Amino acid sequence: MYSNLFKMCGYTDEEIEEQRPRIEKALERMGVFNEAAIEHAEKTVQANYDVEMVSVQKLLWVFMHSCIDGVLARDEHDYVINCNWPFPVQMTLAMIAAAREAGGKTWVGMPVQVLWMVGGTVFDILTPMLERGELIGQPVGKAHCSQYQIYTGAIDLGILPKPDLGIGSGWFCDQAAETEEMMSELYNFEIAYLDGVNDWAWNAWPNLDERAVKYSANTIKLALKRVKEITGIETTEDQLKAGFKYVAKWLYGMQNITRMIGAADPQPISQANVNLPYGLWAIATDYPDQAVDGLATMVREVKRKIDEGEGVVPKGAPRVYLALRTNVDTTPIRMVEELGLCLPTVFVDWLCPQELTKSTYTDMVDKIAEGLYRRPQLCDASAALMYWKTLCKDFNMDAAIISYAYNCRPWAVDPIMAKLDLQKELGIPAIVLETDGYDTRNYSAEQLRTRLESFAEVVKMNKEMKAAA
Ligand code: SF4
Repeated sequence: MYSNLFKMCGYTDEEIEEQRPRIEKALERMGVFNEAAIEHAEKTVQANYDVEMVSVQKLLWVFMHSCIDGVLARDEHDYVINCNWPFPVQMTLAMIAAAREAGGKTWVGMPVQVLWMVGGTVFDILTPMLERGELIGQPVGKAHCSQYQIYTGAIDLGILPKPDLGIGSGWFCDQAAETEEMMSELYNFEIAYLDGVNDWAWNAWPNLDERAVKYSANTIKLALKRVKEITGIETTEDQLKAGFKYVAKWLYGMQNITRMIGAADPQPISQANVNLPYGLWAIATDYPDQAVDGLATMVREVKRKIDEGEGVVPKGAPRVYLALRTNVDTTPIRMVEELGLCLPTVFVDWLCPQELTKSTYTDMVDKIAEGLYRRPQLCDASAALMYWKTLCKDFNMDAAIISYAYNCRPWAVDPIMAKLDLQKELGIPAIVLETDGYDTRNYSAEQLRTRLESFAEVVKMNKEMKAAA
């Protein structure tokens, strides 16, 4: 019943056979162990990604395996440790390695992020989880983070297990930590918080605040200590270094893809497919070798398509920046491309020069904390504005679509400022568009299309006028 779907996601016949009991248990728990749900999943995954690309299949394999592991974590391990977004990947990777080396009694992962990726873009089953989350302290219409509504809903519905320890994120947004606090009370599990100091002066970024780095580093150390006290696993300096090495490889590969797509004309692949490597840049996995292989395959596939002149939008199409990746549904990304606009880069895929400064820290945990504050959007509005302006200049953008999620306070701060800045300083048209990274009910494809169609016409006309001038 599900072999075809799993083959689209990179599984071999032997793997499906070998993994059958686990696959069926996980599908049952997710409520998709029936013909209708599997047929729907086959259509959903093909609508979201170009599954004929080998790299897409390889990266989907990593997500599917990770999702099954997360759903079955309690069945297969004595301890479950959840790390939740926004979260340093190196730290999770190091804990995963430590747990493995200690014999596998403990499972460490980022199950929510994997679940919304698979639950959204493969099975399309997030709405019941969101609805359940809305009943649990995060009512509709109050701008609660949809990612955390999924988390609460998935645990309450028994899809994801209750952890022994959640390592929650309080260094960037308030909602993550607030929801974790509520969940720890409701479901009786412990939380260790990563915390931060985000009181930046305007235009202070990229000059990092030593106090903020040290403070965040200390909260990371306390969380690692608590993991050791609860499970007995100790994360070593070498494991943290290996985590850094993996992330560095990933950055290199992602920047290769970003630069190649950005420089190509026509745009060689849909940015919808780049959701997968982007996801694995920010989500730690138990399958780093397979993930890197998938990424390297995508680099080669993009290069081949460029060499053969393949394109998903017409040659010479206007170049447009799209500010948000809709993680659980690639419709908005594909819609922009279908309107004949080229997306050279999307969201925060590109690393700006200020982010590439060499670290002055020697301690690995300090380096992790420093990394958190290197990304402009994770710091303050002036840094995000600087990023967008630099990106639009560097990629020679003709226009910008500043899409954002109303319920994500850090991301909802600066869209209007960004639109005005880009129009005034760079003289390019910009539009502010409300979407959502995790809840497709918060935008309608028809409304998006209506607004984007007229914007696309303006952008194309502008480009023609410039060319004729
Ligand atoms: S509110 Fe925004 S930053 Fe915070 S967890 Fe949700 S999506 Fe992420």
